[in-house]
Amino acid sequence: MMDPILSVRNLSIDYIGEAEDFHAVSDVSFDIARGEFFGLAGESGCGKSTIAFAVSRLHKPPALIRQGEIIVAGRNVLDLDSKALSKFRWAEVAMVFQSAMNALNPVLTIESQFYDVLKVHRGMNRAEARERAAELLALVDIPADRLKSYAHQCSGGMRQRIVIAICLALDPKLLIMDEPTTALDVVVQREIMQRIDQLRRERGFSVLFITHDLGLMVQVSDRIGIMLEGRLVETGTAQQIHNDPQHPYTRKLWASMPRLHGQQIRGEDD
Ligand code: ADP
Ligand code: MG
Repeated sequence: MMDPILSVRNLSIDYIGEAEDFHAVSDVSFDIARGEFFGLAGESGCGKSTIAFAVSRLHKPPALIRQGEIIVAGRNVLDLDSKALSKFRWAEVAMVFQSAMNALNPVLTIESQFYDVLKVHRGMNRAEARERAAELLALVDIPADRLKSYAHQCSGGMRQRIVIAICLALDPKLLIMDEPTTALDVVVQREIMQRIDQLRRERGFSVLFITHDLGLMVQVSDRIGIMLEGRLVETGTAQQIHNDPQHPYTRKLWASMPRLHGQQIRGEDD
């Protein structure tokens, strides 16, 4: 692939144990193109979040990267010092966590949480940050008067959108979403992921989307990687993973899911 935004090469990650080490990720390699929506699927415990944390450089002991490279926009993120890291986070890669609905600070207004990021990274004052925050909220269809609210005054879906808007504040090149919508109902989940899909087309960032909802994943992803017990066993276009899965495990995953009837898969008509 020419000039990918992310290149993961031969990545192996262990969790260091007292008796023995657990191989959570084994020799995983994949690329994400600029502007691409890449899905990573596989059952619970197969190593998806371990990869997401390592790519964001948010992994910490007992996780240990045994081997491999993680290249973001041409730089190995495993070599970054702490100063380079604080620039890297948010500005290059932003991550929406599994528990993102609860990621907002309960004692600060939404406005203050935008201000924290925009002050540190963009040197904005309150008024400038307020204006930018209103623009960012508009991207996720939230009215600016919500800036005065606290998290508990917002619905789960709204909190989720606000976290995504904060993650987009510094125009990251790669947005990682690790099961971002699992606590939301199916309709809200789909709406949010379709909005993200639209935004990345408009703004050109790439997405690494992690979920166990394969049905949702094939609808929004360009390409998908399937993980089994720490290994990436199959990578293909969403259409191929859906219509012509190669690995027996991918077929098993589909067999365990309700079939998608009459739903459009990315690539079939676009
Ligand atoms: P997934 O996100 O695909 O559900 P994870 O990446 O969270 O999987 O976990 C992969 C494996 O590593 C699991 O078997 C999990 O039990 C193990 N693991 C995750 N975090 C730790 C930890 N802090 N210490 C030890 N083992 C861990
Ligand atoms: Mg996980």
